[in-house]
Amino acid sequence: MTAAFAGLDACVHCGFCLPACPTYEATLDESDSPRGRIVLMRALERGEAPADDDALSWHLDRCLGCRACESVCPSGVSYGPAIEEARARIVAVRPNPPAVTAGLWVLARPARQRLAWWASRLARATGIPAALARGAGDKAPLLLQMFAMLAATTPSRRRTGTPTHRSRGRERPDRHAPGGTEATAAPAPDTTAALFRGCVMDGLFGHVHDATIRALGVNGVRAVEVRRQVCCGALAAHGGRPDLARTLARENVLAFDAAAPGVPIVTNSAGCGAALKAYGEWLADDPLAERAHAFAARVRDVSEVLVERGLVRPGRLPLRVAYDAPCHLHHAQRVTTQPLDILAAIPGLELVPLEGADRCCGSAGLYSLVEPELSRDVLAPKLRAIAVSGADVVATGNPGCLMQIGAGALLAGMEVEVRHPVELLDLAYRQ
Ligand code: SF4
Ligand code: SF4
Repeated sequence: MTAAFAGLDACVHCGFCLPACPTYEATLDESDSPRGRIVLMRALERGEAPADDDALSWHLDRCLGCRACESVCPSGVSYGPAIEEARARIVAVRPNPPAVTAGLWVLARPARQRLAWWASRLARATGIPAALARGAGDKAPLLLQMFAMLAATTPSRRRTGTPTHRSRGRERPDRHAPGGTEATAAPAPDTTAALFRGCVMDGLFGHVHDATIRALGVNGVRAVEVRRQVCCGALAAHGGRPDLARTLARENVLAFDAAAPGVPIVTNSAGCGAALKAYGEWLADDPLAERAHAFAARVRDVSEVLVERGLVRPGRLPLRVAYDAPCHLHHAQRVTTQPLDILAAIPGLELVPLEGADRCCGSAGLYSLVEPELSRDVLAPKLRAIAVSGADVVATGNPGCLMQIGAGALLAGMEVEVRHPVELLDLAYRQ
């Protein structure tokens, strides 16, 4: 038995996890529930069901990997590593769809990514994807949904937003955004943290990195750049490619140890954070195991770093904001209060309740592209809850969630903006 499947041993089949599972909620099929999938994974592990079994791969592939089941399980079942192990066994005999294979090939090397992100930003800057997607409805063809996801990465034009601190980011400042001012009241930095840039975050959300650097700076943390870093490997791990995920993890451990030894590693992406914090397990049998454990222990979400520092008081930001918790922050990292603490610290900002804020939005890496129908079904109650909340802005700290909720809102013709909490904090510092 592998260590990943051993994490399922604690399951007593009580079913407490079923109501927490977004795919079970959408299909009401036991095989689309955590308990049902655990039975399937056990059958796979024992050789009672082959990895190329149609029903087995159908139900396991439809798991979002959101790990909401872990948060509610009274027995402490470790579901996440098991579903990744199961995916790896399935992909070994049933290769991923060509689009996923191509996507992982691009993400594997920064040089390939640069071209893809450049082309994406060029398309985004034309405004055509946003214009075509706006109001197209949730049954829009997949191409329009992809346009909507790209449009959802556009930097905000709310009051200010021009990046003012660019030490490495690859995105060009939005020259049409109204001008802003440099972060106010920034004290001399008294500590440093190495910024983990990631792939999607760096390619399409450079403005969030800029906001992160500024907000850290206001709070006395100087962001150090690590030039040889690569993608965290989360998408490879979720996509059944642990070999690629481990290769990327090794490169990151070596890069951060060389450029910023012993320094905390800060990330603003929930998915990256969950992966980086798992490097000790990913590389447990590797010659770099000890360094990978030490690396993982240094990783902090930006909200953890800022709240631990004690926030410098921001300026006033009169907005109604609903917080939606990214699964890989809330369930996988158990970072639950810090983003709310940041938003609550902004004078004038009204935090409005969002029903189901801790439930998955249906993004889940590449899931929204390979399982578009179920992804839409999972997103639908989230969009209804956002409409009921009356929020001007939905705040969420993960690129996939920003794109999924932003795209859903655009397709539905909703006026709400979707922003990273650190963007709002940065905006408040620049009032
Ligand atoms: S995973 Fe946990 S909550 Fe779900 S059936 Fe098993 S023991 Fe019960
Ligand atoms: S990870 Fe999420 S989608 Fe998968 S079984 Fe658990 S709750 Fe359901």
